[in-house]
Parts: sequence; C-alpha cells; structure tokens
Amino acid sequence: PHSVAVVGASHAAVHLADRLRTDGFTGRIALFTDEPHVPYHRPPLSKGLLKGAIDPSTLSLRAESYFDDQHIELHRRTRVTGVHRTNDGVVLDLSDENGSRSEAFDRLVLATGARARRLALPGADHPDVLVLRDLDDADLLRERATAGPAVVIGGGFIGLEVAAGLRAAGSDVTVIETADRLLARAVGTHTAAALLNAHESMGTVVLLGRRPVEIVRSDTDTDDGGPNRIRGVRLDDGVVVPAATVIVGIGAEPRTELGEMLGLECDGGIVVDDNCLASDGWTLAIGDCTIHVSASGRRYRLESVDNATEQANTAVAILLGAEPATRPTPWFWSDQGAQKLQIVGLSGGHSEVVHRTDPKRPDRQVSLYFSGGRLVAAECLNSPADFMTLRTALNRGHRPPPELFADESVPIKKLLA
Ligand code: FAD
Repeated sequence: PHSVAVVGASHAAVHLADRLRTDGFTGRIALFTDEPHVPYHRPPLSKGLLKGAIDPSTLSLRAESYFDDQHIELHRRTRVTGVHRTNDGVVLDLSDENGSRSEAFDRLVLATGARARRLALPGADHPDVLVLRDLDDADLLRERATAGPAVVIGGGFIGLEVAAGLRAAGSDVTVIETADRLLARAVGTHTAAALLNAHESMGTVVLLGRRPVEIVRSDTDTDDGGPNRIRGVRLDDGVVVPAATVIVGIGAEPRTELGEMLGLECDGGIVVDDNCLASDGWTLAIGDCTIHVSASGRRYRLESVDNATEQANTAVAILLGAEPATRPTPWFWSDQGAQKLQIVGLSGGHSEVVHRTDPKRPDRQVSLYFSGGRLVAAECLNSPADFMTLRTALNRGHRPPPELFADESVPIKKLLA
C-alpha cells in the first residue's frame, strides 16, 4: 500500500506505526484519535499515577517530536465517524474542531480499543460515579479521591489497582464484588485468596458475593447548586455503604462501531483471525477492539499491552506482504499496592494446578497450570525472577510436567536450568 489509515493512536496503533517505519514502509501513515493527548501509557493510570507518584507528562508512549520525525501523521481530537470501502481502498469520514471531511487510504487498521463499561443502576449517572479508561478519567479520579470514602464496584484488575491507590492516598475504601472471590475471570483461587488478604491488610474493606442495587444521593443540595452529592451504595440486602465517590471497574466494552459499519463480524469484539484480518479478509484490526478466533477455533479476548503490541507486529507483516512471526506466549501484569502479579500463558481449559509458596517468603507464591501434563501458564505473585524463568521456558517451547515442581524447596530457576 501507499497509505495506511489507523483509527486509534494508543498502544496498538503507535506500535504498528513505529514498526511499519522500522520495517521500511515509506508511504503515508495517518493515526486518528479522538483524544486530545499525545499517546500515553494506559497501565500507570490505575497504578502510580493515582498516588500522585507519576507526573502525567512522563506517560507519553513517544515524545511529541517523534511523530513528525518519523513522518507519522498524528491527528488528535479527530473522530472517525464513518468508513466506506471503495474499489481500491477505503474512505474515512473525519470530524474535528474545523468541521468534517473525508479522506481516502489504501489500507485500514482499526485500533479503536475499548471503553469502560458503565453501571446500569438507579443513580449511576451521577457525576461522582467514575470510571477509569483514559487520562481525563484519571485526572478526575485523582481530584475526587480525597473527597471522602470511596466505593469501588468490581474486584477485577482495575478496581483492585484503584483501591490500592486510593488507600495509599489515605481514603477509606470498600470494594464490592458480586462473585464470591476476587478476579474470578482472570486468576486462580490461590492467587485471588492471597490478593484478598493483601487488600485487607492494606485496610480496604472487601465485600464478596454482594450486589450493588442503587447509588444513593444525599438529601441536601451542594452550595454551588450542583447535583446532590453521593451518600453511598445500597447493596441487595439493603445496607448502604457510605461513599462520596464511586469508581466502577466492571470491565471494558470493545469499540466495534466502525467494524459494524463495514459489515464485519463482531461478537464481543471485531472478530479477527491469526493474521489480524477481520471477516472481510481485508480490514486489519488489532488490540482491545478485537476478539481473536484462532485457526483451531479457540476464542481469545485479551486486553493487554502485550496483545496490542503482538497483534500490531502481525498486522505489519500482513501489510508488508511478509510472513507473520510466531507469537510469543501472552503475558500480563498488575500492580496492587506492593503486590506485583505477573501472568504468562493462558490457563483456560487447564487440567491440573500446582501451587508453590516460597518457604522463606510466604508473600511470594506461584500457581502453575498444566494441560495434558504440560505447563501452559503461570501466575507469579511477588516473584519476578520466577516469572522471567517461566516466561523464557514457555517461549522456548519448554513445557515441563507438574511433577517437576513438586518440591517447593528447590527454586524454579534451578528446576528449569
Ligand atoms: P486503547 O488503548 O483503548 O486505545 C484506543 C484509542 O482509539 C483510544 O484512544 C480511543 O479514544 C481511540 N478511538 C476509538 N474509536 C475512535 C474513533 N472512531 N475515532 C478516533 N479515535 C477513536 N494492560 C496490561 O497489559 N497491564 C496492565 O497493567 C494494564 N493496566 C491497565 C490499567 C488501566 C487503567 C487501563 C484502562 C488499561 C490497562 N491495561 C493494562 C490494558 C491496556 O491499557 C490495553 O490493553 C491497551 O491500552 C490496548 O491498547 P489499544 O491500542 O488496543 O486500545
């Protein structure tokens, strides 16, 4: 192609543009984002940033000058409102502060990401009910964090990271989770139990198996005539948990609107194959907006920087007519206060688990997942060296059996040497 349009300018899009240039593409690359900021790292928004530890200006994925230097067009505050296939490419409808226009490109990559899922509850439209997806959300959250007690709805990664951040900032925090344990969709029971313990030790109140039914407002108006403040969150048993701020962390919804306009198959994400091609066999889609259906029929919806980066690498190969490289084993991390969780591989469908706890440091534990007697995934809590060893082994195709790990007194590094 001579020109590539990318909708989105975040982890997936910026890596794709960068890699296109590195791999020798000299044509036009245009990134369109409806956000006003220079593209930035999203993970710190729920981690250091909340504690005030990170200066937002240090979050940039690339220096602002990088885009000019690399002749990568970065169109900020520009929303792609429509998309049409033509005989030789695609036309995008664009909307920015100067009005609307259309532009034609040879190829299209959708990297539209996801938006935070909202809560469908009475009172949930109150301005003190917050979500966390972008830098502006994080600013708002930081501003309100000290307004009084905070309730976090959802015991998933973002909810727990925010809870830890707010506790560190001195707020009273309650986490409400409908399931009977934390991180039910993401990690095993062993890891979840250790994290529950850790959050309770931080002073967070964690309510499991409880369902919020209403955001309760106070009866008095604010002095400036704004809406009544929040008083709390009513649970299904009638109890009202006091809150001045509510943070909703109940997952993200892939932004599939443009995919749908193109008539692409969308089913909990824009459906893509191993080559990041959508159902028309032409449009590329990468990152959080996608759901990957592999050649073997397995469906993966991964929301991670690693997945955004690896799908971008694959899409670049397809754009340049090259063979995509084999993808390394997926990985993910989450920092919750002092707790450092790192996951490698996909544990879904495993048949066996081995748990190991460091005899000298009980806060360090590893859960190893096996399928067909072979290692497929591992969750490492406060064990970065074990994580690195296991990730390297899996990437080398080394998939040892569970028996190897039985003796906890022998370090994983020694076992896999
Ligand atoms: P996004 O980052 O969602 O970017 C998509 C962009 O496209 C957005 O800027 C959006 O505004 C723009 N866009 C969409 N539609 C249009 C349109 N029509 N016109 C113009 N622009 C459009 N992952 C990890 O691996 N580890 C972590 O610890 C971790 N922590 C996280 C913490 C938080 C608070 C959040 C929100 C996410 C975290 N993630 C983490 C997930 C990670 O940030 C995402 O997987 C990653 O951002 C996906 O990148 P993306 O480029 O696919 O999409």
